[in-house]
Amino acid sequence: MLYVFASDSMQGRMTSTDGQKKAANFLKSFYENNGINGAINNDQYFQKIPLEYFNRNYINQDSENVVAFIQGSKWPDEYVILSAHYDHIGIKGDTIFNGADDDGSGTVALLEIAQAFNIAKAKGIGPKRSLVFLHVTGEEIGLFGSKYYTENPLFPLEQTVCNLNTDMIGRIEPNKVGNDNYIYLIGSDKLSQELHDVSEQVNDKFMQMELDYTFNEENDPNRFYYRSDHYNFAQKNIPIIFYFNGVHQDYHKPSDTPDKIHYPLLAKRTQLIFHTAWEVANREGRIHADKLTQDTEIEKQ
Ligand SMILES: [Zn+2]
Repeated sequence: MLYVFASDSMQGRMTSTDGQKKAANFLKSFYENNGINGAINNDQYFQKIPLEYFNRNYINQDSENVVAFIQGSKWPDEYVILSAHYDHIGIKGDTIFNGADDDGSGTVALLEIAQAFNIAKAKGIGPKRSLVFLHVTGEEIGLFGSKYYTENPLFPLEQTVCNLNTDMIGRIEPNKVGNDNYIYLIGSDKLSQELHDVSEQVNDKFMQMELDYTFNEENDPNRFYYRSDHYNFAQKNIPIIFYFNGVHQDYHKPSDTPDKIHYPLLAKRTQLIFHTAWEVANREGRIHADKLTQDTEIEKQ
């Protein structure tokens, strides 16, 4: 799937271009073929974002988030959102930026996770809470798709349990070569200690990967916590986890191609996200934002 999704035919998936539209249709077809519903009226997958919303002069037509939905069996009105951006940075000159890792890797991870949950559902063990598979557009030009979703949510934000966001999980950071059973987690403890603890427990039980919190440090100069789509959910006080492999020499280069992806590791990281989603969707009590936000702490003082 990633060889198709990050192929030249998708033209680098720049927001509002034909390549992005083609990628959107690829996602929609996948869900249709797997019998997984769209999130809008149960049959539509595209959440339209009007041109005017993108205050960028190089954007000249509407764009869309692609959203699929698996209804929960016990608590259908509680929602777990899995997200990944499917846009990338397009073509510069004659050069296509395929964006295999960024964020083709997160995109196909979501498709695989959706398929796995759907198979479980067919066997009578579907998720107890509802799952929303949110493929956002406009990330590379300013996190627009996720911002639009949180301002125009398809499901109530107060009923949204958490957001697991995946942006770049198919590569190995240079300083992790030879020690690559890892994933960076960012933000897991910022709003909910409970979510952080569940994530740790699930990893201990099923995956035994190194969960690296280097980039979760408050003063980390990279500020990754603020730089992908989960941040728009965090701003609405929804607990998030951001899954990330770190940057590498092909980041935002035309050389971010599918042949460079480490597929067994991509699968393993996807399984970690799947298990975490399974737990937060099925556990008895829903996850809550149990930490005060910085703003409320200041108000309290
Ligand atoms: Zn990205």
